[in-house]
Amino acid sequence: MMEPIIIVGAGQAGVQLADSLRREGFDGPITLVGDENQPPYQRPPLSKAFLLDQIEEARLPLRPYAFYEQRNIIPRFGVRVTAIDRAAKTITLDTGETLSYARLALCLGTSVRIPPIPGADRPHVHVLRTLDDSLALKRAMADANSVAVIGGGFIGLEVAASARKLGKQVTVIEALDRVMKRAVSEPVSRFFEDLHRSEGAGLRLETLTARIDEATLELSDGETIPADLVVLGTGVSPCDDLAVSAGLDCDNGIIVDEYCRTSDPDIVAAGDCANHPNFLTGERLRLESVQNAIDEAKIAAKTLTGTLDIYKAVPWFWSDQYDIKLQMAGLSMDTDESVMRGDPASGSFSIFYFKDGLVMAADSINAPADHMAARRILANEQRDLTPQQAADREFDLKLAF
Ligand SMILES: Cc1cc2nc3c(=O)[nH]c(=O)nc-3n(C[C@H](O)[C@H](O)[C@H](O)COP(=O)(O)OP(=O)(O)OC[C@H]3O[C@@H](n4cnc5c(N)ncnc54)[C@H](O)[C@@H]3O)c2cc1C
Repeated sequence: MMEPIIIVGAGQAGVQLADSLRREGFDGPITLVGDENQPPYQRPPLSKAFLLDQIEEARLPLRPYAFYEQRNIIPRFGVRVTAIDRAAKTITLDTGETLSYARLALCLGTSVRIPPIPGADRPHVHVLRTLDDSLALKRAMADANSVAVIGGGFIGLEVAASARKLGKQVTVIEALDRVMKRAVSEPVSRFFEDLHRSEGAGLRLETLTARIDEATLELSDGETIPADLVVLGTGVSPCDDLAVSAGLDCDNGIIVDEYCRTSDPDIVAAGDCANHPNFLTGERLRLESVQNAIDEAKIAAKTLTGTLDIYKAVPWFWSDQYDIKLQMAGLSMDTDESVMRGDPASGSFSIFYFKDGLVMAADSINAPADHMAARRILANEQRDLTPQQAADREFDLKLAF
C-alpha cells in the first residue's frame, strides 16, 4: 500500500489538493481533515449572494459528497487537528485519535482578527468567515435597522453593500484615509466610496471606534451613531499556530518555497496560510484569494507526487459591491506608475500599474475584457504593454499577448 497523505484544512485549498493528488495519479490513502461541521463550501457568496438570499445553502458546497467517495478520499469533517509530531510523523485529533502520515499538507486558512475595542464581545457584534457566521449574520440582519461595519476592506464593503440592498441604515467606519487602501489605488478607492455614498451608506474615513454599546457605537471623534448590528471587517490572521508548535518556519503564515514545501520536506502548505515567494514581485507574500488557494494546491499536489513545478500563477481576485464588479489581476503594491484606461464617470474603467516600465497589475471596474486581457499579458514572460498603450482605449489589448 502507498504511504498515506493527510490534508489538514478542508477549505478551498484542501479540497483542490485532494482532487489534484488523484489527478496526478496518486492512488494511496488520502484523509481530508477539517474542523468545520459542514462539507467544504465556497466562502465568497457568504458576504454577497448568500446574505441576500440569492443563492441557497445547498449550492454552497465546493463538491458534492459523492466526490469524496468516488475518489476514495476519507473525509473527517468536524474534527480539529491539535498537534503534529514531525519525528513520529503523526497528527493528533481533538477526538484523541492519532493518525500516521507519510506526507502532510497544511491548508489551514485564516482566522478573523478581533480588534481590542471595548464592547467587541457583545452578542450583536458579528464576524464573517464561516457559513455559521454568515447564517448568524443573516438572522441578525433580518431584525436590524442600523448596521455599522467596522473596516472598509473587501469583506466590510461587501457586507455594507448587501445590508444597503436589504434596506438597512449602514455606516462603514474605516481607520485609514480611503477604503481598500492596502489593495487598490486611490481612484479605485474613491470610485467605491462614491458608489457607497450614492447608494445611501454612510462612510467615516480616518475614524476609529472608541466603544461598542448595546445599540450605538461611539467613534473616536466623539460622535455616536446608531448600530443595532455591528460587523467586524477588520482583517484576518493566518492560522499557523499548529505549524509554529510543530517547529516549522513561520512568519506571517507558514513559510513555503516556490514548490509549496515547508521547512520540513514531508510537509507542504497552500492557500491563505502559506507565505510564498511570488514570481511577479520577487517578494515573499501571503495572498487571500480563491485563485491562490486553487493554484497553490495544484502545485503542492505535484510536489507531493514527485513533480517539481514552480508556482507562478498570475494572482487575480474579484469583489462584488452593489451591481459593480471589481476584478484585480497581478499585484499593484510597490508599483511606481499607473494609468487610467476609460473613464470612471462611465462606470467602466481600468487602472494599469507599472514598475520600472513593466506592467505589474490591473484593477478593472465593470471592465471584464480588460481584466481577462491583463491576466493574459501578465502571464506572458515579456509583459509586452507600455503605459501609453494601456491608457489608449483605441489600443487593442489583445495585441499585447
Ligand atoms: C466572506 C468571504 C468572502 C470572500 N470573497 C472572496 C472573493 O470574492 N474572491 C476571492 O478570491 N476570495 C474571496 N474570499 C477569500 C477566499 O474564500 C479564501 O481566500 C479561500 O477560502 C482560502 O482557501 P483556504 O483553503 O486557504 O482557506 P479556507 O477556505 O479558510 O479553509 C481552511 C480550513 O481549514 C480549517 N482549519 C484550520 N485549522 C484547522 C485545524 N487545526 N484542524 C482542522 N481544520 C482546520 C478551517 O476551519 C477552514 O475550514 C472570501 C472570504 C470570505 C470569508
